[in-house]
Amino acid sequence: MLSVRKKLVVGNWKMNGGQARNVALIDGLKGAIPEGVDVVVCPPYPYLAQVKALAGELGVGLGAQDLSEHSAGAFTGDVAAPMLRDVGCEWVLVGHSERRTLHGEGDQLVAAKISAALDAGLAPILCVGETLEERDGGRAEEVVSSQLASVVSQLGAVAMAGLVVAYEPVWAIGTGRTATPEQAELMHVCIRESLAGAGVAAGVVRILYGGSVTAANAAALFAKPNIDGALVGGASLVAENFSSICVAA
Ligand code: PGA
Repeated sequence: MLSVRKKLVVGNWKMNGGQARNVALIDGLKGAIPEGVDVVVCPPYPYLAQVKALAGELGVGLGAQDLSEHSAGAFTGDVAAPMLRDVGCEWVLVGHSERRTLHGEGDQLVAAKISAALDAGLAPILCVGETLEERDGGRAEEVVSSQLASVVSQLGAVAMAGLVVAYEPVWAIGTGRTATPEQAELMHVCIRESLAGAGVAAGVVRILYGGSVTAANAAALFAKPNIDGALVGGASLVAENFSSICVAA
């Protein structure tokens, strides 16, 4: 039986790119994006409009890497959800561990940003995940469940069904150390159960795995029934690697 959840592969370019490099990267995806998989790229803000024009032709969606919780006003340096919609974004990452760690974003702010995204018609991708210390201390599931619970309690179960969740163990991000498919699947089941326990229609929520996903390990991850796609950092910066991951989905 076909899964009700279409696979989704999202490339998070982080603070990488440049006009010429973006053209080359998107050009390299031409003819390499499979049917039946949703593919999204998230370039830095200044390149959103450029990448929209390039990627739109390939059927590749556009996402931002962050947003403000405010919709307009005196917030120097911030970018609001309606602006992201205005330049063609459909998606936005929220609560990436680099935002949480480097910019001190907590669960409350993350929930406010998700709410702003939903109000503007953007599809938020909520990132959750534990540190190595938390995993080694046997607290991985507790930490991830609590990150989710805090967002559910602020947004309500109905809004949560419109989200994508990305499980990104912090120890696997950019480290070359991937969670095994079994470790990831266990956590994805835990996430789905936590959502269901909170009254969310969890069966329709896509749960992505992120953290050192490569062309070599993607297929084994995607073979797990609760892994609905990937959030890809480093490997999304090389067209050949990113398209191989999309094909594996
Ligand atoms: P990585 O990054 O694939 O380079 O580990 C993933 C992410 O941070 O989204």
